[in-house]
Amino acid sequence: MEATVVGAETSADVAVVGAGPAGLYAAYCAGFRGLSSAIVDALPEPGGQMAALYPEKKIYDVGGHVAVRGRELVDNLTAQVAPFNPHYLLGRTAASLTPDDGAGWAIGLEDGGRVRAGAVVIAAGLGRSVPRTLPCLRPYEGRGVAHHVPRLDEHRDRDVVIVGGGDSAVDWALALVPIARSVTVVHRRSAFRAHEYSVKQMYAADIRVLTDAQVTACNGVKGLEEVCVRISEEEVMLPAQALVTALGFITNLGPIADWGLQMENRQITVDIGMRTNLPKVYAVGDICTYEGRVPLISVGFGEAAAAANHAAVELRPGSRLAPGHSTDRDATPLS
Ligand SMILES: Cc1cc2nc3c(=O)[nH]c(=O)nc-3n(C[C@H](O)[C@H](O)[C@H](O)COP(=O)(O)OP(=O)(O)OC[C@H]3O[C@@H](n4cnc5c(N)ncnc54)[C@H](O)[C@@H]3O)c2cc1C
Repeated sequence: MEATVVGAETSADVAVVGAGPAGLYAAYCAGFRGLSSAIVDALPEPGGQMAALYPEKKIYDVGGHVAVRGRELVDNLTAQVAPFNPHYLLGRTAASLTPDDGAGWAIGLEDGGRVRAGAVVIAAGLGRSVPRTLPCLRPYEGRGVAHHVPRLDEHRDRDVVIVGGGDSAVDWALALVPIARSVTVVHRRSAFRAHEYSVKQMYAADIRVLTDAQVTACNGVKGLEEVCVRISEEEVMLPAQALVTALGFITNLGPIADWGLQMENRQITVDIGMRTNLPKVYAVGDICTYEGRVPLISVGFGEAAAAANHAAVELRPGSRLAPGHSTDRDATPLS
C-alpha cells in the first residue's frame, strides 16, 4: 500500500494536489482505507498557508486543540499520515490533468514528472503562492534571503533583517528576539498594518525598527553578509546573515483553471461527496465551493474525510462508504 516511483513517474491510488491541512488529512483518510497516496505541492514543505504564512501563530478553533501553533498542527498532520507512507513531491507544481488509460488520471508536473492515480483529490487552497520580493534580493535567495521562517532555531545567533509591515513581519520579529543576535524590521511606510498590540510589543522589545525605509542592496561573497537600507536620503549598512521577506504572497490558481473543472468564482464546485464534474476527481478545502461553505481548517478536514471515503468506494466498488471506527483498528497509528 505504497506509491511506486519509476524514474520521473509516481503511481498511487490517490494523487493529492496540495499539502495544506485538507490535503494532508485527505492522504491520512485514504491511507486509513488502505489506499496509497502521492502528495504534490509547489511549496518546499508541507503545511500550505499554515506553514507559509503563520507557522508561529496560535490557532484556537481546531476541534480538540485549545490552542495550537500553525507549525505544530502541520507537524501533527504529517506525523498522523506518516505510517501510511505518502509519497511527497514537494517544490513541484501540478501543471496538467489528463485521463490515463491504465491508471485513471495522470497529473503532469511542471518539471516534466508525472503522477498516475486512480483518483485525484485537489486540495490546492488559494492556488499557487508566489512570495512578493524585491529585485535586489533575488541573487541571495537561498543564500540568506528567505520568504518565510520554517524553523525559528535556524536563526540562532544571526543578525536577521525582516522586511515588511504586516502581521507576519511583526510576529516573526517578536518570535526571533530571544533567538537571533539582532533583529531589525525594515518597513517602507511609517505605520504598521500589523495588529496594534503586536506593534506595541515590537517597539517595546529589543528590535531595531526602521520605518520609511527600503532595502536597496545586499552584499556578501558566499552568502548574505550585509544589507543596505535607505532611510529618507541616508543609507545605512546593516550586518545580516539572514533577511526574511514578509511582503505577502501573490496567489493564483495557476494551471488548475485549465483542467476542465466546473468552477465558480475561481473555486471548484463540488457535490456533497466532494465530487467535481470529472469522474474520480474530488476537491476539498479552500479550493472547493458549495452553497454555504465556511472557509475554516476544521471544515476542510471534514471535506477531506468525505472525499477520501467516496474515492475508496469508487476505486473499490462494493466497499462501504463508512470507514469504520479508528478505535477498532489495531493498525491505527496511535502507538
Ligand atoms: C494569517 C492567517 C490566519 C488564519 N487563521 C485561521 C484560523 O485561526 N482558523 C482557521 O480555521 N483558518 C485560518 N486561516 C485559514 C486557513 O489557513 C485555510 O482555511 C487553510 O489553510 C486552507 O487549507 P487548504 O488545505 O484548503 O489549503 P492551503 O493551506 O492553502 O494549501 C494549499 C496548498 O496547495 C498548493 N498548491 C496550489 N496549487 C498547486 C499546484 N498547481 N501544484 C502544487 N501545489 C499547489 C499550495 O502551494 C498550498 O501549499 C488563516 C489563514 C491565514 C492566512
